[in-house]
Amino acid sequence: MEQHARRRAALRVLLREAGLDVLLVTDLVNVRYLSGFTGSNAALLVHADDDAAHAEDRTMLATDGRYTTQAAAQAPDLSVLVERSCGPALLGALAAPGAVGFDSAHVTVDGHADLLAALAAGELRRAPGLVETLRAVKDAGEVDALRQACGVADAALAGMVAADGLRAGRTEREVARDLEERMREAGAEGPSFETIVAAGANAAIPHHRPTDAPLADGDLLTMDFGALVDGYHSDMTRTLVVGTPADWQRDLHALVAEAAAAGRAALVPGTATRDVDAAARDVITAAGFGEQFVHGLGHGVGLVIHEAPAVSATATATLEAGMTVTVEPGVYLAGRGGVRIEDTLVVTDGGAVPLTQSPRDLVPESRDET
Ligand code: ZN
Ligand code: ZN
Repeated sequence: MEQHARRRAALRVLLREAGLDVLLVTDLVNVRYLSGFTGSNAALLVHADDDAAHAEDRTMLATDGRYTTQAAAQAPDLSVLVERSCGPALLGALAAPGAVGFDSAHVTVDGHADLLAALAAGELRRAPGLVETLRAVKDAGEVDALRQACGVADAALAGMVAADGLRAGRTEREVARDLEERMREAGAEGPSFETIVAAGANAAIPHHRPTDAPLADGDLLTMDFGALVDGYHSDMTRTLVVGTPADWQRDLHALVAEAAAAGRAALVPGTATRDVDAAARDVITAAGFGEQFVHGLGHGVGLVIHEAPAVSATATATLEAGMTVTVEPGVYLAGRGGVRIEDTLVVTDGGAVPLTQSPRDLVPESRDET
């Protein structure tokens, strides 16, 4: 409850900077972040007054009749308006609207028309990304939830390796299902996104969907997966080899590992995220594989699997302590396979701390002696 009030106070500062009197928050993730309420229909009105007590008094959550009890339990500090059409109802209840910002990245054209119709006076203004800016810097509780989510994914992979679950003959789909079951057993609410398992030539497809193709000796095997814990997402990719690696596979893996290490080392507060991308990308480009690294280096991760800040060549963000981001360079060789190594890390004043901690080896340790 306190943490939500703290977040609303931080938001009020942004509202005043943006010249807004009030913000209508309609994105459910943003509503959850600011209020604690997790129902499937809601909106929140936050006032910009610098008189905090007065502003908090007027903060209002709207939801429909299915969620009255849940809203009282999850957001006992807020007054609740019970209406099916949450956003328009909140605007309709405003006495002196003034400059009303709204979550414009999350409102449809029809939804916008409804908001306009509900606003008796004042002015409706686009206000994209305000809550997302706050969400990019995690508080200690959020980092804990992310650390748990990452630990669950680590445990699932360790269990797979120990049970020899990544052997020739199993299919991509079996491996994906097995990983997801192991994550649930380890405490996940579910996978944090659709699990990617890509073997052999499929490993050259960055977002391959698992098929009934069986794993074969000598295949590169890329697994990109994560767990959902307390609403927070983890994200990790490991590339292993089934059986004994060929020299080109060792070389490719070593190159991507070097790029990933350079990216992690560049995660320092005050650094532009595009420079973090460059730190990793330069390693791959210098080796002649720049064209085969076909995506950005990483992304923020939290209540949503891809959130601010972006970590790419075109990104405009600057790192701050408390941001949680992925570093995930990859090289993809059409028809042969690919390697991607991804970790989720928290940026601190002392450097980045990996939250995903699985070994990054091409050959899992339990098979080293063979
Ligand atoms: Zn991933
Ligand atoms: Zn990712």
